Amino acid sequence: MPDMFGRGGSLTLFRIRSIPVRAHWTLLAILPYLAIVFSARFGAAANQAGVDPASVRLPPMAWGFLVAIGVFASVVVHELAHALVAIRFGGRVREITLMMLGGISQIERLPSRPRAEALMAAAGPATSLLLGGALLGSERLFGSPDLRVGLYYLSGINFVLAAFNILPAFPMDGGRVLRALLTGRLGRVRATEISAAIGKVGAIAFGVWGALQGSVMLVLIALFLYTGAQMEAETTHLHDVLGHRTLGDLMATPAPVISLDATLAEAVAQMRRSARLDLVVVGERGQPAGVLRPEHLSAVDEPGRAGLRIADLGDRIAAPVALGYVDENARTALERAARAGANYLLVLQPSGVNAMRAAGVVGPTELAQAMALEGTSRRGRRGYWLRPA
Ligand SMILES: [Zn+2]
Repeated sequence: MPDMFGRGGSLTLFRIRSIPVRAHWTLLAILPYLAIVFSARFGAAANQAGVDPASVRLPPMAWGFLVAIGVFASVVVHELAHALVAIRFGGRVREITLMMLGGISQIERLPSRPRAEALMAAAGPATSLLLGGALLGSERLFGSPDLRVGLYYLSGINFVLAAFNILPAFPMDGGRVLRALLTGRLGRVRATEISAAIGKVGAIAFGVWGALQGSVMLVLIALFLYTGAQMEAETTHLHDVLGHRTLGDLMATPAPVISLDATLAEAVAQMRRSARLDLVVVGERGQPAGVLRPEHLSAVDEPGRAGLRIADLGDRIAAPVALGYVDENARTALERAARAGANYLLVLQPSGVNAMRAAGVVGPTELAQAMALEGTSRRGRRGYWLRPA
């Protein structure tokens, strides 16, 4: 992933109503591909639009480029429709990321009422459909062959976006609408499982079809869809489980923390004692300073560890660690940590007047354990496994 794309491999293009619209590097990889594919088929494309290719003034490559930009613009409009409806229902949109296979709106405080979620999900495909219809209608108004080809194709792109996204399976918008419809009767978790299962079966069928066509691109899309369905099921399950837990229920105790002043040898001893390889590093006043992992120690030989303090490792151990409280709702706290980019929460407990002590830590290991236990104990069958981050 090139560095210029920064956090999450994306580059901020512009802002609409203070929502950053970002391009993921996969989008920039696919645009030239689309341009080349389209320009190679330009003659046939013009005929389809009912235009004589010879009467078109712009060269095919320019058309390929313009159509690729059209795809990108259509996806922006589609995502903005989701975002604006989300805002209308009290959601907050953190950013819109445009990727190879469409866009992702990162919405915080996602509307959890089924009706609001259904409307938010349906807004994207509905907007693409309306836009496609409007473009196709206006195509007839113009005499210029160039303009007619352009409008014809832009409308086609929007129809494809609408059709693809309304499929009733995760991770498509239609899967969200389906879940909202099922939630009333089956509950959110079961409704998600059904939408995700349809998504996975659909993705496998699509992948097999793509393989029979000999298209690597279609197989990749199928893989992306399968993963998307899986992730959606896991995220919903995680939310459901965490919504009913406090940080105190999840945290590892005694708190796996170590002082900045400790030596590396002491850190190794503590890792052995607590059978845990990641320790939250705390400063003099107990404030978190980072996370110590085995790879930080492996560069130093055994005699060296006795003489070297954790503080000497400097920025290498720096990692965001969020603060939380023992009786705080786990979902609220972890969402706050995620916004700060932190994988770890240092859980505090009041001790005496105006004083806090570190009671425990919630990190990727604790989350994976909670999910695995919850899956087996409540459902009596295989739990969901999260890949520890
Ligand atoms: Zn959508």
